[in-house]
Amino acid sequence: MSKATERIKITQYDFEQMLISKHSIESLTASEVEERTDLDAYGDWIYTTLTLYYADDEHCATWMGGEGWEFVDDNVRNYHESGVRLTDCCGAFSTYHIDEMGHEILCCKKCWNEVPAGQGDGLERKEI
Ligand SMILES: [Zn+2]
Repeated sequence: MSKATERIKITQYDFEQMLISKHSIESLTASEVEERTDLDAYGDWIYTTLTLYYADDEHCATWMGGEGWEFVDDNVRNYHESGVRLTDCCGAFSTYHIDEMGHEILCCKKCWNEVPAGQGDGLERKEI
């Protein structure tokens, strides 16, 4: 699933406190990695230390160069130009599909996975 990043300008301590308030402290882990971020004037790699945060083993945030980056799912919403909300998975419309049991299932028209009502069916829209 695609994830957007949200940039947060606070201190690392406050950033960690915010993560702890969102996820339980037991589920959070952090690890430091060195990442090649750029080339210097001599063509040598510049390394930056990143702190990666994991909540239940899922990468949820990164601290880098004095800034926090949080991965947020909620803001990843796709909208059609008409204002209709599209599916989170593919940004497509959805349609009702009848399964073998005769149940109506709302499915993404692109990947055919089940999606919750409101995604791509025209029920949910934003003002444009
Ligand atoms: Zn899909």
